[in-house]
Amino acid sequence: MPIDATKPYDESNIFARILRGELPCTKVYENEFALAFNDIKPAAPVHILVIPKGPYVSWDDFSARGSAEEIAGFVKAVGHVAREAGLVEPGYRLLANVGMNGGQEVPHLHVHIFGGAGLGPMLAR
Ligand code: AMP
Repeated sequence: MPIDATKPYDESNIFARILRGELPCTKVYENEFALAFNDIKPAAPVHILVIPKGPYVSWDDFSARGSAEEIAGFVKAVGHVAREAGLVEPGYRLLANVGMNGGQEVPHLHVHIFGGAGLGPMLAR
């Protein structure tokens, strides 16, 4: 069930629990701004989620409330993870679902990195 991205941050969401170490993840990368881990239900041969360390519901929330340092650190982390995964030369796709129409399921900002194969059209038609 997609979430309402205008709601306040919910500290009990699954990615907050992963950040606190209460739930496991298959970690790919971590620094002071971001944690990257494999998606539990991969939709492509490479499917990594990158989340900011701070409590941001969505891309909308992060872009409005995140500090310049957090935003720069997060964007750089996404690029670093994709490079380290060897995705630049073959190419890859980034996706951040926001709210109901975006189909966002987890109310903590996450950028999906998809790669490892041709990904087809941008959206189903
Ligand atoms: P979204 O629909 O953009 O909110 O995507 C949520 C993503 O989180 C989905 O691709 C799920 O497979 C993934 N996911 C949910 N729970 C976990 C988890 N515990 N570990 C890793 N990925 C998860």
